[in-house]
Amino acid sequence: MGRYIGPKCRLCRREGIKLMLKGARCESAKCAMEKQGRNAPPGPKSFRRGRGTEYSVRQREKQKVKRYYGVFEKQFMNYFHAAERLKGHTGALARTRARQWASG
Ligand SMILES: [Zn+2]
Repeated sequence: MGRYIGPKCRLCRREGIKLMLKGARCESAKCAMEKQGRNAPPGPKSFRRGRGTEYSVRQREKQKVKRYYGVFEKQFMNYFHAAERLKGHTGALARTRARQWASG
């Protein structure tokens, strides 16, 4: 299974919240989100616009969950398909699966 190996705090900057992907380092002043001027979204300034379309808002929300648990689209969808077959709230069950995977 693939996994993201790039700069982690870049993901926090993109989502605009601390994803705490680096653990203790993200709690310290060393985290990019704590540094002045580095807490903005990554990339050229021209891309730093507002909320964007309805689609982009939802897409960011989805990316946020995937990045938090360190999974990509394929695996994320598998969690959902598995959760769909169970009784209950599909989204909540999928997160439970993701959490189990993330914790070992
Ligand atoms: Zn960080």
